[in-house]
Amino acid sequence: MKVIVIGSGFSGLAAATSLADKGHEVIILEKNSVAGGRARVFHEQGFTFDMGPSWYWMPDVFDNYFETFGKKTSDYYNLVRLDPSYSVILEGNETINLPAGVEKLGDLFESMEAGSKVKFQEFMRQAAYKYDVGINNFVWKPSRSITEFLSVKLLYDVTRLDVFQSFSSHIRKFFTDEKILKIMEFPILFLGATPENTPAMYSLMNYAEMEMGTWYPMGGMHEIVKGMVSLAEEKGVKILLNKNVQKIEVQGDKANKVITEDGEFTADVVVASADYHHVEDKLLEDKYRNYDEKYWDKRVMAPSSLLFYLGVNKRIAKLKHHNLFFDEDFKVHAHEIYTEPKWPSKPLFYASAPSKTDDSIAPEGCENLFLLIPVAPNLEDTDEIREKYYHIIMERLEKYCGENVRDSVIYKRSYAHHDFKSDYNAFKGNAYGLANTLMQTALLKPTLKSKKVKNLYYTGQLTVPGPGVPPSLISGLLVAGEVEKENRG
Ligand SMILES: Cc1cc2nc3c(=O)[nH]c(=O)nc-3n(C[C@H](O)[C@H](O)[C@H](O)COP(=O)(O)OP(=O)(O)OC[C@H]3O[C@@H](n4cnc5c(N)ncnc54)[C@H](O)[C@@H]3O)c2cc1C
Repeated sequence: MKVIVIGSGFSGLAAATSLADKGHEVIILEKNSVAGGRARVFHEQGFTFDMGPSWYWMPDVFDNYFETFGKKTSDYYNLVRLDPSYSVILEGNETINLPAGVEKLGDLFESMEAGSKVKFQEFMRQAAYKYDVGINNFVWKPSRSITEFLSVKLLYDVTRLDVFQSFSSHIRKFFTDEKILKIMEFPILFLGATPENTPAMYSLMNYAEMEMGTWYPMGGMHEIVKGMVSLAEEKGVKILLNKNVQKIEVQGDKANKVITEDGEFTADVVVASADYHHVEDKLLEDKYRNYDEKYWDKRVMAPSSLLFYLGVNKRIAKLKHHNLFFDEDFKVHAHEIYTEPKWPSKPLFYASAPSKTDDSIAPEGCENLFLLIPVAPNLEDTDEIREKYYHIIMERLEKYCGENVRDSVIYKRSYAHHDFKSDYNAFKGNAYGLANTLMQTALLKPTLKSKKVKNLYYTGQLTVPGPGVPPSLISGLLVAGEVEKENRG
């Protein structure tokens, strides 16, 4: 079969590689000049900036991916485990460095709340089970029919997964110390919703982070993309860059052509890994959409982000590789993201200095800084607003570091809603797709198969299993499995 994949993010690359491996002729059409989607890279003045993801969690998912094709992760990039995993900066600039490994973490928690080491061990025992069932079983369900979930074993699992309890109330059964609660709730923020709105099942994220570790691919996160691109090309996938898809042409009940600005490509199957809403709204005629605008408007989106990529011409002693500025009230910031969307009054933010681990991504004696403020999607995005927030967070960062940094910034680029829209056709300028709330899980997510066009499939962070690098990669493999099952012979 001739398969056209739209988009070269993790989901598109995974789908294309898997289908090429099964013997199909696969072409990826990517609108940008670099592959990788939200995980693109750019180089400026001797700095290498990863544009999106910076946390490498769930190394088993990547290892299994490369093993599926007879390869090893180390054939493509070298991983190092970070220790401390990250720093949390609390009110009054109190700093907690999270050590790698659960034993040391248990000791740290015990020093903060008597009796919490044993409780942490019990929490992690339950989280290990959730990780096993969640990552080895649930996320591999295409979620197209309730029957996929109707096995005695799975139903038994559901009862032990705490699907109907919120993470927030689950964690409070183990700990009362506010600092421990903040630390334990952090991985949940990756799912794009608050701990109150996230099922307790996702304590599997704590297992992923704390037991399996926080890793870093030397050279930067884009090394993962480079590895996946090499593997795709080894399997025969053709990746065509600067191909902005304008239309999916449908004849009868089948997509037969994908049309770009400068050409057209015939297809037996189309896999759309670009933002789901964009595909429905801009690439298809209305009558072929799965969901109308009302549906999309009701979705709870994960936050967007205001980002800064900074080249600094000195080293900043106080920063670690990952630094979470939790020095303001998270409840207020969360309210301003989800309940009453507006630019945050006192934002929490994240500062990454990967040059602490990797000399190759900054000139000698310099620091590579990536700053991220989670913000509501669809906000007014102007240069003035971006600049205002730059100074708000730099003020706090400088105070924490005990030195001036702004005067040493030799390269600066900001990135927010407008860029997400123009670079990725992102619905409402979203950064991480849909929030993983209970009402947007599995069967309740936008489906990965078109209901009206027989040979059209969707993949990526807006469909199953959800946002994040490992889920997007799994999404690509899932859709490839469905294509193979339904179209072979
Ligand atoms: C700032 C930021 C930080 C993040 N941090 C982390 C992290 O630390 N860890 C983690 O696991 N995850 C993180 N994520 C989430 C993760 O990066 C995403 O979930 C994942 O990369 C999404 O992959 P995807 O394949 O679904 O989509 P995308 O990466 O968006 O790929 C879709 C592709 O389709 C292309 N496209 C769109 N429209 C068209 C068109 N008309 N024609 C042709 N091509 C088109 C786009 O250019 C893009 O390349 C982060 C995301 C962001 C934005």
